[in-house]
Amino acid sequence: MRKVAIYGKGGIGKSTTTQNTVAGLVELGKNILVVGCDPKADSTRLLLGGLAQKTVLDTLREEGEDVELDDVVKPGYSDVRCVESGGPEPGVGCAGRGIITSINLLEQLGAWDEKFKTDYTFYDVLGDVVCGGFAMPIRDGKAEEIYIVVSGEMMAMYAANNICKGIQKYAQAGTVRLGGLICNSRNVENEREMIEELARQLGTQMIHFVPRDNMVQQAEIHRNTVIEFAPEHNQAGEYRSLAKAIDENEMFVIPTPLEIEQLEKLLIDFGIAN
Ligand code: ADP
Ligand code: MG
Repeated sequence: MRKVAIYGKGGIGKSTTTQNTVAGLVELGKNILVVGCDPKADSTRLLLGGLAQKTVLDTLREEGEDVELDDVVKPGYSDVRCVESGGPEPGVGCAGRGIITSINLLEQLGAWDEKFKTDYTFYDVLGDVVCGGFAMPIRDGKAEEIYIVVSGEMMAMYAANNICKGIQKYAQAGTVRLGGLICNSRNVENEREMIEELARQLGTQMIHFVPRDNMVQQAEIHRNTVIEFAPEHNQAGEYRSLAKAIDENEMFVIPTPLEIEQLEKLLIDFGIAN
């Protein structure tokens, strides 16, 4: 089984990209479990055709010890299995805890039993917060391959670099590796070249460049992935290409994070000054 985590700055397009990629992998015949690790609990909305009724933390709060697998794992598009970790009530407690609790509970309840023939687990993780809870999936081998969603905007690149620092830290002792950067375009000047160069300096690859397209939002309004909503549209093809690239990926590295000066130089060389 491939254990994948998608990280990136809030709002960069992690959940959209994850779900569309998952839909692309489904077309390749893969069995997939998606675990939303964002307190917003919207990581599986497009696959479920609406927000999950209850998160793992909600279910635990309400049902206590009597939780069954079907209470927390919901079938979505083409039988993709969907979980939302959830989070504490706003302002109370640690948001990372939901992730730890969820993964442990899923293991206990047999979410990865042989009978499910799981090919992929995807963790969709809020990633601009550098805290132990959010690093949970990359500790202890829960997730082994990381993709970082990034764009040519400075804060997105800054977050990507920070995430690489986290990966580097845990990679020394464990199995976690970086599989690549996914550029989710914001139509920034020279974006493709800049992210390719960022990837090169990090010791990784830009695994795909996903164009910005209004079809993504149109599908989102209808609570669908683009692949389901507009299978013939060019953007659906982009997500299929990304899915195929991930499926065929063999480049897994321990990243070499940049110094802030290097990051700034990249922005100056490619972006702002031109
Ligand atoms: P995250 O999970 O990283 O917080 P989301 O996946 O929720 O981000 O995406 C944030 C918003 O950006 C969504 O409204 C989504 O429709 C939009 N979006 C993401 N990717 C694209 C794209 N390639 N083209 C157009 N809109 C996009
Ligand atoms: Mg999200």
